[in-house]
Amino acid sequence: MSCVICLEDGAGFVCECSAFHVNCFATFLVRGDDECQICHSCFDRRLKAAALDLLSTRTSNLFGEANPRTKARQLELAVEFSDIGQTEVAKLCLRRLISTSAEPEWILAVSQVELARILCRERQRMPAALILEELLPKLVCIKKRWSWLEHLEACTILGGCYSSMGRFVDAEKLLLFVIESHMNNPNACWRRVVKVMQEIAGFYSSRYDFVLACETHRVAVRILEAEEQDPSRIALANLELARAEIRCGDTSAAIDRFITSIRTLRKRKHDTWATDALPNAREELGNLIKPTKRLRVKTLPEDC
Ligand SMILES: [Zn+2]
Ligand SMILES: [Zn+2]
Repeated sequence: MSCVICLEDGAGFVCECSAFHVNCFATFLVRGDDECQICHSCFDRRLKAAALDLLSTRTSNLFGEANPRTKARQLELAVEFSDIGQTEVAKLCLRRLISTSAEPEWILAVSQVELARILCRERQRMPAALILEELLPKLVCIKKRWSWLEHLEACTILGGCYSSMGRFVDAEKLLLFVIESHMNNPNACWRRVVKVMQEIAGFYSSRYDFVLACETHRVAVRILEAEEQDPSRIALANLELARAEIRCGDTSAAIDRFITSIRTLRKRKHDTWATDALPNAREELGNLIKPTKRLRVKTLPEDC
């Protein structure tokens, strides 16, 4: 496969449309893109991590460990490590950044938010909540655009933490505050809005309010269908909605939604988010339609 940048052979696909060498991809990533502007899919996470690793080493060799540019690259790499499931490495990187980066303050704050995100995902909710509870008042005092956005991000994660801990009043207060702030901002990033809506849906779900959870997932999907260009992200949100529909007892709608989403995801062969979601989705659909054994051996559940 020939590389988009140097046109030499030996490149690998990083998205549905373009192949790069890791080295060339690193150069390309410096522009700060996090997804392909042509096919609108997320870059292959493993190749992206390899490229960012290269970039981080290069920056460190040139400017030194303590330089803010090196730290920014290390932070970017840590987030990517967490995305590819290497959470132990990610946590180590983030903890090192937190202990050594009083300056610049944005690196310190973002590292803490990202560490809390991982801990929360690992169900270590107390330590995650402690980090965020300590960070929030500091973020409010900084009064810059980045600190405001990080503040909303921290509230979203903390809200999710609280709802899984059963602290529903606190969770509701935080999550509604975030969604309201986004709604009052004409330039709000709709991907962030969708993330909060999904967190709110999770909150309703933990309170066993499945109808409201389902409605909230539906709004999230509608926003995505209006704004999103990456088919995988729309399909992944539809899977969440289908799961909520099952909890509401609306199995036939859920089956249709599973089938359409799986058919979209299986076409996204170079999108690791899509391919990673397929096995579970297929199993869940299989449990819903219970195909006969003969059919099950020959056909995928979405084609039954
Ligand atoms: Zn190349
Ligand atoms: Zn592409």
